[in-house]
Amino acid sequence: VSPGSDPHLETALRWLEDQRPAMTALLEELVQQNSYTGNPAGVAAVARTVGEELRRLGLQTERLDSQRFGPHLAFSGRAAGRPVFLIGHTDTVFPPDGFQGFRVDGDLARGPGVFDMKGGLVVGLFALEALLVGRILGRLPLRGMFVADEEVGSPESAPLLAERARGATCALGLESGRKGDLVVTARKGVGALKVEARGVAAHAGNEHERGKNAIWSLARFVDAAQGLTDYARGSTVNVGRFEGGTSKNTVPDRATAQVDLRYLGAPEGEALFARLQELAREVAVPGTRIDVTRGASRPPLERTAASAALAAEYGECQQASGLASGEAPLVGGGSDANTTGAVGVPSIDGLGPRGAAFHTPEERIELASLVPKAAALVRFLARRAH
Ligand SMILES: [Zn+2]
Repeated sequence: VSPGSDPHLETALRWLEDQRPAMTALLEELVQQNSYTGNPAGVAAVARTVGEELRRLGLQTERLDSQRFGPHLAFSGRAAGRPVFLIGHTDTVFPPDGFQGFRVDGDLARGPGVFDMKGGLVVGLFALEALLVGRILGRLPLRGMFVADEEVGSPESAPLLAERARGATCALGLESGRKGDLVVTARKGVGALKVEARGVAAHAGNEHERGKNAIWSLARFVDAAQGLTDYARGSTVNVGRFEGGTSKNTVPDRATAQVDLRYLGAPEGEALFARLQELAREVAVPGTRIDVTRGASRPPLERTAASAALAAEYGECQQASGLASGEAPLVGGGSDANTTGAVGVPSIDGLGPRGAAFHTPEERIELASLVPKAAALVRFLARRAH
């Protein structure tokens, strides 16, 4: 706390200083509850805990029930005006029968989702509570959404998020913090394709010549598709799943593949998709057909003058909180900040605690980063209060 600063902000930051044990306890509670995307009841339990915390702070919450996933949680403050928008997700990539439990290991906390991104949820909740203690929260135009389907590309929540974030002054993503506290301003776009080849089944011994081999056809497509990768342009094509056939001695009539696309700009994404559609027609083995279906996609998070200025301002708040600052190099993984950026809201991401190894059993955070990351968020939000 620097001399001469706002006494409300000083009160908020002073309260936050001693909150590491309480932050760790809430993190433990959130991590102990499995919330794999495919475990909607578990995701709902996490959303319930987080929703109760938000209501305890006097915020209004709205539960958006889902047929396919856990509920999405939207929230808002009481102050009028164009809001700051907070982004988070309650789901993780860890199924209930795998990596489980929460463990403190020296200065590290370990557990499924501790880094991606339950640590970020804790940072957000404690920053808001500090603002309440400092009597700043009631003057802050605020909205946010914690979605339940981020780890599968937010197929359901993305339009809901876009609708709620539209018109915000900025969007702040509480995703896993980067090395060196670098703030994320650019992420690649992400596309998904399902590809299905259909042929004609036949006995491999008796009537091989009548068969039309769907695996052969799809294999030709895979080879051509992989060849579209262009690292210099930042475009990648990855065939990550391939299935087909029923038995060794049957000419297969069906084969399927799942393809992941990454690209720098929306036009590059459209061009890639169009080229893959053409390839499906060009390379199919005669007598077979290949159909390409588009799955959940994310637009790129494109760095703009406004988002760079936002990152610089946030970096000042990090430095004042004893953290480093700077912009992260382009990130290949998409997030919900891609969605808010695409509706014209300056968006930055990676504001959660420092850690490592997300999506693996080595996932961990540095406990010492919880309070300073929350302090940076408090400092930034205090600037946006009226
Ligand atoms: Zn995440």
